[in-house]
Amino acid sequence: MAEFELIESIRARCTQTRDDVLLGIGDDAALLAVPSGKWLAVSTDTLVAGVHFMQDTAARDIGWKSLAVNLSDLAAMGAEPAWATLALTLPAADARWVEEFAEGFAALARQYRVALTGGDTTQGPLSITVTIHGLLPERVALTRSGARGGDGVYVTGTLGDAAAGLRQLQSKSPGDSRLLERLQRPTPRVAQGLLLRGHATACIDVSDGLAADLGHVCAASGVGAEIDADALPASPALLAAFDAGTRRAFQLAGGDDYELCFTAPDVDSGDLLDALAHSGCAAARIGRIDSGSQVRIRDAAGNPVALPRRGWEHFA
Ligand code: ADP
Ligand code: MG
Repeated sequence: MAEFELIESIRARCTQTRDDVLLGIGDDAALLAVPSGKWLAVSTDTLVAGVHFMQDTAARDIGWKSLAVNLSDLAAMGAEPAWATLALTLPAADARWVEEFAEGFAALARQYRVALTGGDTTQGPLSITVTIHGLLPERVALTRSGARGGDGVYVTGTLGDAAAGLRQLQSKSPGDSRLLERLQRPTPRVAQGLLLRGHATACIDVSDGLAADLGHVCAASGVGAEIDADALPASPALLAAFDAGTRRAFQLAGGDDYELCFTAPDVDSGDLLDALAHSGCAAARIGRIDSGSQVRIRDAAGNPVALPRRGWEHFA
């Protein structure tokens, strides 16, 4: 299969259309109609074989996840997804692999009405870069810098499942499909991000590990946070498969959760929490913002919890 045929195979499967795509795949650039009065939110994420996923991961799952991690970034800004581009570097022109990859990507693109508007296809070690574009009303974006002393700290869904799934994969144990699913096919919290607009003071998606990612919020906002390790939400699958110590490490520093961690004044949080629960993904209060400068973790009895590492970092 030649480069052109690979592109055609992707185009034929990623069929989500939008009226605001004036010119899509096939020219030197896409032309997109940005509505006046809206702001554009743009984000890029790369997945590299052997770094972000194991070499033998199913192509369909890689396709899904390459879009999911980008949608998660838009969710954390409170943006509505619109367009994506896909830069694909492949070791070989494997038609079957590309078909399955494109089908995984397209399944999620359909769900969120994301149009694939272009990309690039090159030969080299397997690597996928997606750039996502989303739309927001002016001045309502959720950023990392708005957390204030006294705000509650919240997280959507459950933490630690993806890290638990990875541990099971690596240990070649049969594994719990619910945990593997969280690792291979994360659900971006797009609807929840939209609900947070106008309510959350700061937001980030948990991709590298809660402690590390909340640390970014604290640094950007010039505040500290105290987290109750016993308040972190855990799924039934995680509770069933791992002891309390391992669970806590996965929840605090595991990464790949793609939940939203946000801050909000407690007075404002009742209706918001109701709305999140109604959206199908409830949020839990896990701590409080204070005038410190770091993320400190305690258990329910008030004892400090030490972490060997706070999250994933490249070049560390
Ligand atoms: P150019 O050489 O002008 O950059 P390309 O031959 O790389 O053009 O791409 C041809 C068209 O196909 C362009 O519209 C480009 O955006 C699109 N395209 C290339 N690779 C991909 C891909 N992996 N996914 C989606 N569109 C792609
Ligand atoms: Mg090109």
